[in-house]
Amino acid sequence: MDDGVSDMCLLEPVSVDSIIKNIRVRFGKDLIYTYIGNVVISINPYKFLPIYTRDVIFQYRSRNIYEIPPHIYAISDEAYRSMRDRNLDQCVIISGESGAGKTEASKLIMQYIAAVSGKGREVDEVKEQLLQSNPVLEAFGNAKTHRNDNSSRFGKYMDIEFDFKGDPVGGVITNYLLEKSRVARQSDGERNFHIFYQILSGAGTSFLKSLKLQRNPAHYHYLSSNSMTECLLTDKENFEITRKAMTTVGFNVNDIMSVFQLVAVVLKLGNLKLQHHTKIDGNEGCIIQKEEELQECAELLKCSCDRLKAALTQRTVETSSEKIRTDLSCTEAIYARDALCKAIYSRLFTWIVEKINDGIRTKRRGKKKSMGVLDIYGFENNGFEQFIINYCNEKLQQLFIELTLKEEQEEYIKEGIEWIQVQYFNNAVICSLIENHSQGILSLLDEECLRPGTVSDSTFLAKLNTNFANHDHYEARNCKKNQNDRSLPFDAFRLRHYAGNVTYYVDGFLEKNNDLLFRDLSKTMWLCKHPLTPILFPEGDPYKTSMRRPPTTSSQFKASINALVKDLQTKVPNYIRCIKPNDEKKSDVFDESLVRHQVNYLGLLENVQVKRAGYAFRQSYTQFLLRFKMLCPELWPTYNGKMEIGVRKLFSYLQFPEEEVAYGKTKVFIRNPSTLFSLEDLRAKK
Ligand code: ADP
Ligand code: MG
Repeated sequence: MDDGVSDMCLLEPVSVDSIIKNIRVRFGKDLIYTYIGNVVISINPYKFLPIYTRDVIFQYRSRNIYEIPPHIYAISDEAYRSMRDRNLDQCVIISGESGAGKTEASKLIMQYIAAVSGKGREVDEVKEQLLQSNPVLEAFGNAKTHRNDNSSRFGKYMDIEFDFKGDPVGGVITNYLLEKSRVARQSDGERNFHIFYQILSGAGTSFLKSLKLQRNPAHYHYLSSNSMTECLLTDKENFEITRKAMTTVGFNVNDIMSVFQLVAVVLKLGNLKLQHHTKIDGNEGCIIQKEEELQECAELLKCSCDRLKAALTQRTVETSSEKIRTDLSCTEAIYARDALCKAIYSRLFTWIVEKINDGIRTKRRGKKKSMGVLDIYGFENNGFEQFIINYCNEKLQQLFIELTLKEEQEEYIKEGIEWIQVQYFNNAVICSLIENHSQGILSLLDEECLRPGTVSDSTFLAKLNTNFANHDHYEARNCKKNQNDRSLPFDAFRLRHYAGNVTYYVDGFLEKNNDLLFRDLSKTMWLCKHPLTPILFPEGDPYKTSMRRPPTTSSQFKASINALVKDLQTKVPNYIRCIKPNDEKKSDVFDESLVRHQVNYLGLLENVQVKRAGYAFRQSYTQFLLRFKMLCPELWPTYNGKMEIGVRKLFSYLQFPEEEVAYGKTKVFIRNPSTLFSLEDLRAKK
């Protein structure tokens, strides 16, 4: 019965094909986890597997990672023990496409840690809070998409802190770049964030009434223009779960009320009908049609209706001597309305994360150990967000290569074995193309956003073309070298990422990077008497004299990614690479070309190559002898000498070529898997 190999370092030959074949064979047998050294490859089964029970958890507890079949629990245990017993802070980096199983994996890790760490009233409370942060974040940050019914639309890094005994005492969550465009618009057949449907189907009638909401989602423009409008059966139950979880993580009744009021405001503002209007003086303007909805919004926000109306339909331009009000065109007003809703929602989300952090923040003083879990996402469109996310993935890949090589090298040094130079593709050149301080794509983008005069996405593209015409990893139709490449559209550029080429359309880059809200809107929000809006819109404070421009989206993201990378660098990394078997969310269907794409994207071949560059296999002398001493009469059945001498005797008896084996201080190193397989064969024949 062929189960493939459980560690792909032992594949022979090593190629993308053999990797895919191995994953496929194992997937067919519900063996969804496979290692590359200590990296876990996980393929989404899209069905329930009985491998997450308490019994299984306790099987993995404190066992050597190679003794039992590959599992997320095994790597969780490795990481946990290494943190607890050797005082090494850990991080788990989970990557993969949308729907590949990243978020489920992160939950399994937390579940494992919660199960194996200590008990007691205080510890249990912390665990409960950490676990309950998930449903809250998922309600507000996840949505149904084509690829995943519960797709995370934000990136998350959760750092769990432990005391000296290894019991969790708190944590910190960092969120990255919520996909806020979803608030106002969704692709056909996708949904808005879960919370909107949860509240409409789950809230009691009087609560809904106090929020001035109607139960039917079809009533709301943001839930019915493109999206699937129906609530799902689970929305109703999930509302209760969300509300309970909010309480557990530290929201009081007033906090919860405030949050839902703003959720309601978003839905209701989205319903405002703006209509084109030519004024008596002949100027263009627009009027708001559904005044009742506007009135109710003002009540929820505790602000004057007239002020809100003015902010939505007019703009104030301040010169040194006077204030001039101009009317917004209908298009501008719709844009302003949507921008406001997106801002309210995404800032509310960030506030929620901070609020959760207040609840789970470690109260105890003293030295702590920590384990961070990174669940970063993949975007599907080919625009600005994808570009930003791919930049993040590029940085993580750089870190991966650095750390994996470093780890290998350190082991060789520790074992006193000569280091063999590894050939690998260093992606630093692409990271630098993107983030280089003064001349990277990001800084050119910021420059274009701040430059006065007529700037547009195409002037930005032209700038890139001039600057990177000769860059090996940059391609655009207007660069000489790509002039005849018909696969390249004129309004796009292509980057040669480590994982393959991606074409980015520049449409929307400037606007999304600028992310500006008309000042009248932020000021109005700041002036509302609602408890949260002044916190969410600090730049609206009219008494603030400094008119500094808020940082652009990309510079904020760059700063947070660099902070993240810095944090990860101080920790021992553990990797989980998730793969999606098909696009239909079906069990037992293996779409080879889809998997191939991901194997490339995740850089698995390179991963195996780096791991195997020197020696494919290594094991402590003791364990190795235990398994193979039966092959050498001099050692069998009992051998009492030094372990290393025993292994040397074994190899000299079997007459394997000398360069196949190296002898470290505590471990034997074997260069090619075939040697290990011959040993296994010999053993099987005995
Ligand atoms: P991602 O976060 O990578 O976008 P998710 O973790 O949300 O993907 O997984 C998508 C869906 O796939 C889940 O909602 C679940 O139905 C299924 N799934 C993921 N991992 C597993 C697993 N280990 N066992 C069973 N089903 C899974
Ligand atoms: Mg997810």
